[in-house]
Amino acid sequence: MISRREFLAAAASLTSVPLYAKEGDGRFDLVIKGGRVIDPSRGVDRIVDVAIARRRIALVASNLTAAEVVDASGKLVLPGLIDIHTHAVRGRDDARACLADGVTSLIDAGSRGSDNIDEGVEVAKRAPNRMRLLINISRTGNDQQNGELNDLTKVDTTATRKAIERHRGVVVGIKVRVSDFVAGKNDLPALRLAQQVAAPLNVPIMVHMGQSLSPLADLLSVLKRGDIVTHPYSPGPNGIFDDEGRLSPAVLDARKRGILFDVGNGLNKHITWDIAERAMKQGLTPDTISSDWVPAGRTEQIFNLGTVMSKFLMLGMPLASVIACVTSNAAKAIPAFKGLGTLAVGAPAELAIMELQQGSFEFVDNDHAKRIGSQRLVTTRVIGGGKT
Ligand SMILES: [Zn+2]
Repeated sequence: MISRREFLAAAASLTSVPLYAKEGDGRFDLVIKGGRVIDPSRGVDRIVDVAIARRRIALVASNLTAAEVVDASGKLVLPGLIDIHTHAVRGRDDARACLADGVTSLIDAGSRGSDNIDEGVEVAKRAPNRMRLLINISRTGNDQQNGELNDLTKVDTTATRKAIERHRGVVVGIKVRVSDFVAGKNDLPALRLAQQVAAPLNVPIMVHMGQSLSPLADLLSVLKRGDIVTHPYSPGPNGIFDDEGRLSPAVLDARKRGILFDVGNGLNKHITWDIAERAMKQGLTPDTISSDWVPAGRTEQIFNLGTVMSKFLMLGMPLASVIACVTSNAAKAIPAFKGLGTLAVGAPAELAIMELQQGSFEFVDNDHAKRIGSQRLVTTRVIGGGKT
């Protein structure tokens, strides 16, 4: 015969079937209550509580309590967002601004090269969230004035390799920009040199495509599994479509080989509604949604990662897929982010609480074309800084 107390405990457990683990006896530090939890890493989309203990996810189940409770009813509760393409290393407070947007982990993609990487690493270490760097294959880092690859002597493979080895865990890959204004005829040679450094170290390359002199197929042929193409929805020349407007077979082949496609919204010549829409209709949905965040983007086009996510809702991507692109997919794309982008028990307690607003919202592409969407994702609270 069971006691009334045992009966009540058993009844309670029926209504709080844990999604991930058995309920432990430890007490929770914080419970996020009543939100719609979307965790694409586990295929979860339901209204449920999330408990945190010792800065880790402790349990995802119903009817949880703790001394500190965050009411998330009516809101989305998501793993902390991951933005794999920003330029947030340039300003002292840029990473902090991204954190307020819900971005607990981010990549600065190529703002610094081997000449100035040490300073970039210091900025990353001081950031309140988890900032990692892709080192530019040019010694100078991104050079908006002259183009960092206008002269191939700016590529120092030894210095780049040493910088990655010196800053293992912080410098986690290589960035190469191959647009004509950056590299001219040096696009393909620079990319090959980057791969000579990246492949033996087993780190990814992120290649900034669009308006290159070399055909895209030639550039893609240099990439290995796990490398990332950013700005795939760039206008030509040498974009993703053939002359008939069909997705180039080289792009489909690259995806089959395990090469990833990252949005990289940016401000200039990286995305138009028309190209993104046509590409997605032909199957080129993004693996990751990133902002290509720069401070100037705070007040136009980009604003924040939530706005960029909202653009893809407007383009017809399902909500869970959009969220996967900034959580589980983003964590897979960057090996240094393994184990993030999930609310699995034991994962770091990093969450973004967002509102999915309904209404009429204007979004702007890089051609300043406006479109109206009916939904907008706005971050209302961030839990955990993502600092390790
Ligand atoms: Zn960029």
